[in-house]
Amino acid sequence: AKDMGGSAFKFYTTELELSWLSRTFILNELEAAIEKGEIEVYYQPLIPANTETACQSAEALVRWQHPERGLISPADFLPQAERMGMIEKIDDFVFSQVCQQIKTWQANGIGDVHVSVNRSAHNFGNQRGRLDWLAYIREQGINAGLITLEITESVLMRRHAESGHLLKKLRQAGVQIAVDDFGTGYSSLSYLKEMDIDYLKIDRSFIRDLEADDNDRAIIEAITGMARHLGIEVIAEGVETLSQKEILEKIGCHWLQGYFFAKPMPVDVFEEFLASANNA
Ligand code: C2E
Ligand code: CA
Ligand code: CA
Ligand code: CA
Repeated sequence: AKDMGGSAFKFYTTELELSWLSRTFILNELEAAIEKGEIEVYYQPLIPANTETACQSAEALVRWQHPERGLISPADFLPQAERMGMIEKIDDFVFSQVCQQIKTWQANGIGDVHVSVNRSAHNFGNQRGRLDWLAYIREQGINAGLITLEITESVLMRRHAESGHLLKKLRQAGVQIAVDDFGTGYSSLSYLKEMDIDYLKIDRSFIRDLEADDNDRAIIEAITGMARHLGIEVIAEGVETLSQKEILEKIGCHWLQGYFFAKPMPVDVFEEFLASANNA
């Protein structure tokens, strides 16, 4: 009531109340942000190792271009979005943007660009109220082989009938599957024989100290050897130096991604990267 004025406000401004307020605020803002076009997709190149083959692939990474706060990285809003049930909306938005971008690249002569899209483990297989990715690919007439789905091990370990079903359907349609942050989650590898996986993305934590740490090198060698036998390609994440690149190429990793080559970039800058990389 109005007559209670400021004192009532003071009374209720407990820590709990504040966090609830800020959560609601972020939720409202995020929802509006999508509508206002503040949510953007950045592209980070995936570089084929040990070859002169041109770069034609990238990972799509979400950014929030906030009018006052500037560029907000996903680490600062995705956990919140996940708790508030907004992550599905963001993933669906990023996915649809990527599909449109793939069509634009084909239309303007840049050609086929492969894009990896992240899909949160949160409610992974639950299709209720969200975009049907497979139906969307078909409606838009997109070659499913140009899309890779990046998921974490937790999705593969969970054994939810829904998740497994969705993954298999996407896989059958030609969408490729990458296991993100490989090596940091579960120790069981049983899912590798049950699910047809295309890529393992070795987590950055194994790459960071690679020059000095023989254990990291041994682990990467083991993962790459196993992957080769399983017909799976390995992607090394977070490659920052020339010597990391050289070690990873010697080990036989198939793909490299990291600041050494390029940071995630807005689409126009990524297009310049493609043009210069492909004319080098
Ligand atoms: P991720 O999927 O493991 O993505 C790789 C992250 O490592 C990206 O951070 C990328 O910018 C960063 N990175 C790439 N190369 C290097 C490097 O050489 N050094 C270092 N230090 N970092 C590097 P970013 O873009 O901030 O994204 C963080 C995480 O947020 C992602 O980790 C992913 O889990 C999540 N994310 C991003 N976009 C989406 C999305 O559209 N949907 C979902 N569900 N998650 C997303
Ligand atoms: Ca990823
Ligand atoms: Ca990762
Ligand atoms: Ca395979």
